[in-house]
Amino acid sequence: MSPEVRIGLDSVPALRVRAENRAAVRPDGAFVLYWMIAHRRPGWNFALQRAVDWARELGRPLLVLETLRSDHRWASDRLHAFVLGGMADNAAAFARKPVLHHAYVEPDPGAGRGLLAALGGEACVVVTDEFPAYFLPRMVRAAAERVAVRLESVDANGLLPLRAADQAHSRAYLFRRFLQKSLRRHLLERPLPDPLAGVRLPRLARVPEALRRRWPATAAAELRAPAALLATLPIDHTVAPVSGTPGGARAGAARLAHFLRDGLPRYADERGDPAADVASGLSPYLHFGHVGTHQILDALSARDGWTPARIEGTVTGKSSGWWGMERNAEAFLDELVTWRELGYTCAALRPDHASYASLPEWAKATLAAHAKDARTHVYDLDTFAAARTHDPIWNAAQTQLLREGRIHNYLRMLWGKKVLEWSASPEHAAQILIELNDRYALDGRDPNSYSGIYWCLGRFDRPWAPQRPVYGSIRYMSSGNTARKFRLAGYLARYAPAVESRPDRPRQGLLPG
Ligand SMILES: Cc1cc2nc3c(=O)[nH]c(=O)nc-3n(C[C@H](O)[C@H](O)[C@H](O)COP(=O)(O)OP(=O)(O)OC[C@H]3O[C@@H](n4cnc5c(N)ncnc54)[C@H](O)[C@@H]3O)c2cc1C
Repeated sequence: MSPEVRIGLDSVPALRVRAENRAAVRPDGAFVLYWMIAHRRPGWNFALQRAVDWARELGRPLLVLETLRSDHRWASDRLHAFVLGGMADNAAAFARKPVLHHAYVEPDPGAGRGLLAALGGEACVVVTDEFPAYFLPRMVRAAAERVAVRLESVDANGLLPLRAADQAHSRAYLFRRFLQKSLRRHLLERPLPDPLAGVRLPRLARVPEALRRRWPATAAAELRAPAALLATLPIDHTVAPVSGTPGGARAGAARLAHFLRDGLPRYADERGDPAADVASGLSPYLHFGHVGTHQILDALSARDGWTPARIEGTVTGKSSGWWGMERNAEAFLDELVTWRELGYTCAALRPDHASYASLPEWAKATLAAHAKDARTHVYDLDTFAAARTHDPIWNAAQTQLLREGRIHNYLRMLWGKKVLEWSASPEHAAQILIELNDRYALDGRDPNSYSGIYWCLGRFDRPWAPQRPVYGSIRYMSSGNTARKFRLAGYLARYAPAVESRPDRPRQGLLPG
């Protein structure tokens, strides 16, 4: 079996394309518009590929409008710097192609309002990205009502099309079984590494004058070195960019190559060990669409000469064996595909996925039964945020989050569990976790932000014995066991909280603010 490559308006699987309004395509429009909001990469991107298909079909230029809002809840220097790095890479990539890339960074809250409708008024058809979390589904729905031509969203999120999932699976092994039955045929439909390779299109020299004046493009130099631009934006300047972790398709590809060389060979055995730190670090790149999962699978395949013909094919629900790859690659794919896409399909099928109410009934019942249990410590949001609990491991994990926008994957689980244990109620714990994760983590605001946070409170899990205070039958984790299991001295020294944020004594009894 070799992956199918089709050219024409049907090169993108129909299951991945959704009409967001009932307006018609206008063949005599001035250009095809691709509104890039989530799959922010120039290759391995079904949405871009669909827009290219339309441009070729209609013989019209292609305009890529890449926007960045300043008014979303967690907009900060950290997140903006990462996205701007990606916009700089895209500007450079599209400059070599017959495509006009217009990077619009919103200078004031709401300043971008009207841009899409205005450009849509000139376009033949608008294509955008489907992303199942945060404000994006709402934004696309609102845009669809205002755009005068057909607006399509395209799903380039994962190996399994979101609409291929039969249900929001409650456990990873059930979803894995489903994937083992149905993923194989979708692997044959992969996006083109470069949908613009060899493509000839009429060129659009610039965006119409009046629109350009009102919504000017951000210059490539400002995207590449954004410090001055960031300072002018109405976003949270207290959350600083992460030095050494640049955003963008180029940095993402470099991170992938580094991981395949240095991290993957030790992944199966050492992923959980904070001292080894062998995981890929790809989650921010995946979140902002700077890297795609087909791209990762392709790189893995090239490394081992793997093709889908090697799929073992037996439906076991087991986390290794199905792909027919070596054990490190199998372990990595189980995270990248089973766990990641479990969260994506759940988010797509359950609009309430970010709310406490979406927890399974057994989890809500056991947490409610233990809601009034005495807590050894109760901290408020500010104390958690400042890494000022009594627990050095927790404080180190939070310090890593503050400084690097990430937490080592094993400690992230412990970090979440302890917020449940030391919050006034499980509902408060969920709020605090969302606030900390989505404000500071580069990969936050993702379907898997809510998978991970609510996993700490029972989602995708089962009841565990014995019943414990606060947790009830939710799976328990302890700092003591973690300290016994791993060599943490290096991690604790590296991420010791700044002296001024160390507590004089644990602040107890405070309600979350
Ligand atoms: C409390 C809590 C909060 C979390 N918040 C987020 C979040 O905001 N964004 C996010 O992407 N993940 C989140 N996770 C899941 C997981 O911690 C991260 O995906 C992983 O640590 C990212 O590091 P990596 O890219 O090096 O992972 P790797 O081990 O290299 O895995 C490769 C990819 O697989 C996916 N993946 C790995 N582990 C998981 C998992 N447990 N669930 C879902 N997908 C996974 C990610 O896309 C990751 O990039 C959270 C987990 C917990 C317990």
